[in-house]
Amino acid sequence: MGGSLHKQLRAIWHRAVMLLQSSLEPVTPRKILVTGGAGYIGSHTVRLLLRQGHDVTVVDNLSKGYRHNVPAGRLHEIDLSDTAALTRLMKAKQCDAVIHFAAFIAVGESMREPARYFTNNVAGSLSLLDAMVQAGVKHIVFSSTAAVYGNPHTSPILETFPIQAVNPYGESKVMVETLLGWFDQIHRLTSVCLRYFNASGADPEAALGEEHEPETHLIPLALRAVQTGKPITIFGGDYTTPDGTCIRDYIHVNDLAQAHILAVEYLLNGGPSDQFNVGTGAGSSVLEMIRAVEEVTGKKVPYVVGPRREGDPPSLVANSQKLRDRLGWSPQYADLRTIVAHAWKFAEKQK
Ligand code: UDP
Repeated sequence: MGGSLHKQLRAIWHRAVMLLQSSLEPVTPRKILVTGGAGYIGSHTVRLLLRQGHDVTVVDNLSKGYRHNVPAGRLHEIDLSDTAALTRLMKAKQCDAVIHFAAFIAVGESMREPARYFTNNVAGSLSLLDAMVQAGVKHIVFSSTAAVYGNPHTSPILETFPIQAVNPYGESKVMVETLLGWFDQIHRLTSVCLRYFNASGADPEAALGEEHEPETHLIPLALRAVQTGKPITIFGGDYTTPDGTCIRDYIHVNDLAQAHILAVEYLLNGGPSDQFNVGTGAGSSVLEMIRAVEEVTGKKVPYVVGPRREGDPPSLVANSQKLRDRLGWSPQYADLRTIVAHAWKFAEKQK
């Protein structure tokens, strides 16, 4: 009890010092290339980078992202396979670092079309890394995923857990993490891999939000069910969890975006390559999420309980202590209701 209080006080003290330092130090404007900056997490990160005074160049082929997510004049419609164009752009912009989001993200689709996933996610990343070497850009923050852990036997998950992806999407991220190791060893190109848990929520001002097509994620689907009255299906009510539904660690997209900015600074300040989980450390079940949606919207979420979705682990919760300790990160919007409220504001605006 005394020990845990002492630990908590130390963590609070550490965070207060980090905050004080960051408020005293003027932000050094960085020139950052963001791939996939027209997509969900990428666009929120671009917005935050610009707010914090950085110079941002976006690369996106708009296969999944939207032009309207990127501020005017910053978007370059380039496919990641175009190494020469990426090299030219990074040289012209004299980029300090890259944040690499551009990738396909649907697990189910990756099981049906593995070649597309490996080509886009792995070959695309390789082309980007090749361009970085040619342009002399030495640092990259990479969008990785909790899917690299496959179906872990215990939760919360530490970065040291075995890497054993169970689908081509997760495997494509494992392969890029491996490539990054070699590029560090051979070219001294340093990287941070951020292994995301469940990205969720939206820009608090609702300027940006989640717009996947087709939408497969729980929160936007539950909000849509409220708007349309058409029930969503809960994928399995017979898991060995307290209420029988799957548990996930929902992390607000802006907290996720902030982790990228801290990771870029860490690399530019000479930090060595590393991997970090990004989650809040708190798990919520599907039913708990539905209750949160009902509280926020003031309406019932129509739902039916269906069979399990293939490949869904019962519980995925991050241990994010490493990110907190090493990068001074802490979530600003860890409360489920805040996450849902921001997503709701965006969903209502889209009507
Ligand atoms: N889920 C659900 N019904 C849906 C969509 C998702 O029950 O229509 C569940 C899914 O099985 C998982 C959780 O909600 O346990 C979060 O799923 P999501 O697709 O949002 O993210 P994932 O965990 O797959 O990355």
